[in-house]
Amino acid sequence: MPQLDAFATEPSSSSLIGTKVRLDRPTNREHGCCDNVVIIGKANSLTCTTCGAFRGWLSAEAATFIIETRARFGAPESIVLRTPRAPPAPAARADPPPPVKEIK
Ligand SMILES: [Zn+2]
Repeated sequence: MPQLDAFATEPSSSSLIGTKVRLDRPTNREHGCCDNVVIIGKANSLTCTTCGAFRGWLSAEAATFIIETRARFGAPESIVLRTPRAPPAPAARADPPPPVKEIK
């Protein structure tokens, strides 16, 4: 068994190079490119796997998440990058306004 503890201090972003990620954020749906599947390159750049267009950068948070997830569970078939669903806007809430007590 190889001993990798000496390298466990900082996850290396270079290990993500070549990893395919599906972008499923709202902005990717509105301004998508081909199948919204990108490949991670140098410095966590994201490149469209179909047409080669530059799609942005993988955040350090997302990179760390993918590295940690792979270390724990092994490489998944596909990685999907999403943003958490935003809470509903106050105007969209169905709750009735609180009753107003009239004081006479
Ligand atoms: Zn494309």
